[in-house]
Amino acid sequence: MGTLIQHGTVIHADSSVQADVLIEGETIVAVAANLPPADHTLVDATGLLVMPGGIDVHTHLDMPFGGTTSADDYLTGTRAAAIGGTTTVIDFALQSRGHTLAEALAVWDSKAEGKACIDYALHMAITDLSPAGHPHNETLAEMEQMVARGISSFKLFMAYPGVLMIDDGLMFQVMQKAASLGALCLIHAENGAAIDVVVAQALAEGKTAPHFHALTRSTQAEAEATHRAIALAEMAGTTVYIVHLSNSDSLRELKQAQARGLRALAETCTQYLVLSLEEQMPGKSFEEAKYVFTPPLRLKANQAPLWQALADGSLSVVSTDHCPFRFADQKSLGRNDFTKIPNGGPGIENRMQLLWHFGVNAGLLTPERFVALTATEPARIFGMETKGVLAPGKDADVLLWDPNAAYTISAVTQSMNTDYSMFEGWQVKGNVSRVYSHGELVVEHGKFLGTPGRGRFLHRKANAGELL
Ligand SMILES: [Zn+2]
Repeated sequence: MGTLIQHGTVIHADSSVQADVLIEGETIVAVAANLPPADHTLVDATGLLVMPGGIDVHTHLDMPFGGTTSADDYLTGTRAAAIGGTTTVIDFALQSRGHTLAEALAVWDSKAEGKACIDYALHMAITDLSPAGHPHNETLAEMEQMVARGISSFKLFMAYPGVLMIDDGLMFQVMQKAASLGALCLIHAENGAAIDVVVAQALAEGKTAPHFHALTRSTQAEAEATHRAIALAEMAGTTVYIVHLSNSDSLRELKQAQARGLRALAETCTQYLVLSLEEQMPGKSFEEAKYVFTPPLRLKANQAPLWQALADGSLSVVSTDHCPFRFADQKSLGRNDFTKIPNGGPGIENRMQLLWHFGVNAGLLTPERFVALTATEPARIFGMETKGVLAPGKDADVLLWDPNAAYTISAVTQSMNTDYSMFEGWQVKGNVSRVYSHGELVVEHGKFLGTPGRGRFLHRKANAGELL
């Protein structure tokens, strides 16, 4: 048995070839021209591109935030991901203050149980080094246990004082420990303390509308924290990965560090590449709450440098930071106060379409770079040895992409569990044709064909020390 995908163009991160892909069971066994059919299921991929399934390394499924919970759980979120061509996600387990990392892991394990439609892995967000009755150094020791359980990256917040933020001293201790483990530190880089001052001043002046969320979180606040995170990582001798880098001021800090040979990597997210402050948040109505996420939308002038950085390799990954909230009953919590609007937007389903249309079709990215940014680099950076590449021995997570398919994005037809789309009515060219996960056909004609719960937890290797 097995599946033979014939006559397609296979896109790798560094080359494209006319080749067939042979899947036996859950694994790719051959990628070569003119493979002889035997008793295989034959799939004619003429005119299609054959790529590794997408990997979205930044999602928040079933996540508590601001008194509510993100609207996609592991079932609806990973199903929407699959429909959009993504076959692996890395979600964030979030330590609750006063509780241990092991408790957080147990909570997230139960969220995924029986629901995940594709493979998933976890980052661990550390928010407290001294949970009640728990010695400080024991929490650092817990990082070791997390790595042993396949959680090889730790997220630290420099924003949200009093809620998620940890101070520089604690962050530095985590970085030192991560260095000794070969684990990767992910940083939400914003100067939370300064931002809180600006936010309080805005509210005191009666500035409560959604666009003040964006206006109170400057690019300088993000750039300063980006610089500080990289400096602390240099002192600790570890590798840092800046999440959701949104603007050219932060990019300048990243590039300066990279030019000095420092171990600094970063991702940006789809929304910063195609949406802007001027266009989506002019300050006219509460509808703009749909675009309240953090970091916020930036002036359009930031987009070109981000695209350039994706092309030249300064930025390594495009993720979504998918953190959906319904407009009607969740975003509306902040109708009279932008600080009460749950932060986040829905995007897990549209990443591949948007990056293809606005990147590849526009001539800003090659198809090979598209594969690098959406699959190969995420797999390499985050220690997923069986993912991100179409080659013998790898998991048969395969995306058949139709570069000529026209598609209109809309909340009416999307699979994500929100009542709006950030890209409503947008027409894109290039869309998913079929998706295989572990050799199983899980998406065809935009429909998910698999069984919820089929997705597995993915054990990741700690290889941050070898990245650069
Ligand atoms: Zn996030």
